[in-house]
Amino acid sequence: MEEPDSRNTPAMASSRNTPSPPPAEVAETTRPVDAPRTNPPPDDSETIAPLPDGGGGGGDPPPAAAGRKRRRRKKQFPGMVPTACLRVLRPSSARSASVVYNEKLLDELIQMQINDAGPRRRGRGRPPSSSLRLARELDVEALIAMAVGFPIDSLTEEEIEANVVPVMGGVAQSNYIVVRNHILARWRSNPSVWVTEAHAMESIRSEHRALVSTAYAFLLDHGFINFGLASAVIAAPRRRPPSLPAPTVLIVGAGVAGLAAARHLLSLGFKVAILEGRGRPGGRVFTKKMECCASSTTPGVVAAADLGGSVLTGINGNPFGVLARQLGFPLHKIRDLCPLYLPDGRPVDTVIDSHLEATFNQLLDKVCKLRQAVIDELRSVDVSLGTALEAFRRAYGFANSSEERMLLNWHLANLEYANAAPLSDLSMVYWDQDDPYEMGGDHCFIPGGNGHFIRALAENIPIFYGRTVTRIQYGCDGVMVYANGQVFRGDMALCTVSLGVLKKGCIEFVPELPQQKQEAIKRLGFGLLNKVLMLFPHDFWGGGIDTFGHLTEDPSDRGEFFLFYSYSSVSGGPLLVALVAGEAAIKFENTSPIKHVERVLGVLRGIFAPKGIEVPEPLQVICTRWGSDKFTYGSYSYVAVGSSGDDYDILAESVGDGRVFFAGEATNRRYPATMHGALLSGFREAANIARVARRRSTIPVMDKVDVMEDPLNLDYLFQTPDFSFGSFSVLYDPYSSGSDSTSLVQVGIGDKNLGSASLFLYCLIPKKNVMDLAEIADDDNRLSMLYRSFGTKLVGRNGLGSAGESLVARIKVARTANLKT
Ligand SMILES: Cc1cc2nc3c(=O)[nH]c(=O)nc-3n(C[C@H](O)[C@H](O)[C@H](O)COP(=O)(O)OP(=O)(O)OC[C@H]3O[C@@H](n4cnc5c(N)ncnc54)[C@H](O)[C@@H]3O)c2cc1C
Repeated sequence: MEEPDSRNTPAMASSRNTPSPPPAEVAETTRPVDAPRTNPPPDDSETIAPLPDGGGGGGDPPPAAAGRKRRRRKKQFPGMVPTACLRVLRPSSARSASVVYNEKLLDELIQMQINDAGPRRRGRGRPPSSSLRLARELDVEALIAMAVGFPIDSLTEEEIEANVVPVMGGVAQSNYIVVRNHILARWRSNPSVWVTEAHAMESIRSEHRALVSTAYAFLLDHGFINFGLASAVIAAPRRRPPSLPAPTVLIVGAGVAGLAAARHLLSLGFKVAILEGRGRPGGRVFTKKMECCASSTTPGVVAAADLGGSVLTGINGNPFGVLARQLGFPLHKIRDLCPLYLPDGRPVDTVIDSHLEATFNQLLDKVCKLRQAVIDELRSVDVSLGTALEAFRRAYGFANSSEERMLLNWHLANLEYANAAPLSDLSMVYWDQDDPYEMGGDHCFIPGGNGHFIRALAENIPIFYGRTVTRIQYGCDGVMVYANGQVFRGDMALCTVSLGVLKKGCIEFVPELPQQKQEAIKRLGFGLLNKVLMLFPHDFWGGGIDTFGHLTEDPSDRGEFFLFYSYSSVSGGPLLVALVAGEAAIKFENTSPIKHVERVLGVLRGIFAPKGIEVPEPLQVICTRWGSDKFTYGSYSYVAVGSSGDDYDILAESVGDGRVFFAGEATNRRYPATMHGALLSGFREAANIARVARRRSTIPVMDKVDVMEDPLNLDYLFQTPDFSFGSFSVLYDPYSSGSDSTSLVQVGIGDKNLGSASLFLYCLIPKKNVMDLAEIADDDNRLSMLYRSFGTKLVGRNGLGSAGESLVARIKVARTANLKT
């Protein structure tokens, strides 16, 4: 087997000859056999000439194990799941046929659930009374709101922050919840139509008009209704901006989060520009066309391959389900059958398989119970999920035979896939903290790949491609974003880059990010999942299933090609994708793709040869290397040992008193590591930006001339500081009282007594840090806290940068205004 040819774009070709990591996520595209290449490839994939048909034919579907769900994310702990919903949503037959799925089914299924719970009425029985009908309607609407992520009988944090009711917990709150659920359900029943406030009022009594207005405004601002890609939504007039001229938001990254935020901000009347390092939108969602042209012996084949995000993991309430409905995309339900094969190709005995799956779930259950019992102690001590599982396995003597161990290892690999991390890195306490919020319903593919969504989301959005952002500077008067030698100025910035990019420190934040955020970035995990995508001349594995699995003898290889996804019913061609998870995903990036192709073909031949099915050479193969991709440095986030769900919230916090915001899957505590989590985080931050911009528009406009007026002399301002202690004196931002608002601190060096120091140094820190400094005794301790805990350096007057200048200008304006009044 020869080495793969160089790739097609100059950037990719050059990366092959250098030891540095490849520049794009298509890390290797390889030709597995020495077939000549005949056509110029379409983009950065290598196209292989068709091979003569190696025989083999279509082949029978591998034997099916009965009614099993193997999914990327499983509900591990039945106690946390509304089991009644599961009962209804679970497919009834063990051997499911290929299903074209429609998100509308959500409403019907929920309706079934309600009917199921109440008295049955069949045939010509008495119709339900109007109060019973109403009660059922309210239940249906509540279930729809729940599927979208609202709690059943309380408010979300965002609703509390938006002051949707004057008093919490009373009748007004209960009424608000009913009204909110009604509007939400009404729009979800037909998301192709723009629901107006008047529509929302139609079935609500007029005395609740104020509640309808509040609920409607909340749902609209936060992107819970009237979002997406329906023509009625796109054509809707933009809202009035919070101030004139409209504030500008610079968005870093055109992934799902960045695109969703941009669309929503535009609809709220903002000006936006996205700066994207790559030459395409979508980030970790990338559908690539794989193809091989026809020759005299074989017909041409083509398939759409999702190199990153692929499965809609739970369709109920999923905003991607709404987009699919609006665009008229059918969804393909991933069938539950997933036969497993032993290393020698024999199918796993279905009885042993079911037994081991039960054992695996028991093990997880035991870990869950253990942590419930010792939860208080565990808050300060954490161990890895891998350690805990292995301890229980030994203690209970589970999975002792070699076949059982291999099977158990397969399930562990599946868990590593769900979390993109070896179990030895996952927090036992919090690894599944998002489970209660998991989207219900089936897992689905979108025929033709998720690129459809990306194209639609990116349409008419101002995106500057090839702009790699290296610095985000923020201050009281706005932001400056540096990319490829250019400086972009805006009122606010939204950073949506991956946690991997933040961990690598690819973007310098000036001033530095708060210590707490820096620590959360370090603590939270960002893991790896890789794929081998293979375009074959024909579908030799059979079209009856969507997944099959493969067991390995060596536990350290358990994640290598442990699961195969067949995309032949949705991609347009005979495409098979092998997953590489856990430790194997890390090793994978440092091994030649030629080796990968040899190994994966070996596995496939081991499975299919005993059935008399010949596995042909693939026509084109792509091996991803998401860990080396400089625009993501990994695949998706996970809760590492020592981390918790709180870290997602900290990552989501804005900095610089509402100047720099953060979105992306790793800022979404409830739906991390998913495409829908990224989308919802974009909507969330657009709403936050609008809230802050509205607040700011009530603050007087700065007199910018003042900034330059007396750049060096701060003494007269510090003659009357807002707060002083030891050698420290402080000036607060007069227009912001929040604990995160920026304060200007002056430290007198050379003499302990303020005012008689020979030298003054300065820094900008959040107000809450000023309070921490004031609380401790002695200037030396304060200086040490400043350097060590806050990571802040003292600088001369000129080193405060634009953020300092802005703050000084604001203080001057406020003081001048006070003098005048
Ligand atoms: C292999 C793989 C499989 C997955 N499978 C699934 C799945 O089946 N289902 C599912 O729901 N999710 C899946 N995911 C996760 C899902 O794809 C992500 O959660 C989601 O796409 C993240 O979107 P985002 O907008 O948060 O980040 P990104 O998509 O990473 O977007 C960030 C953007 O910022 C850009 N950028 C980075 N650095 C800079 C810079 N310095 N300057 C300018 N631009 C920059 C990037 O190029 C990118 O476009 C998978 C991910 C991977 C990698």
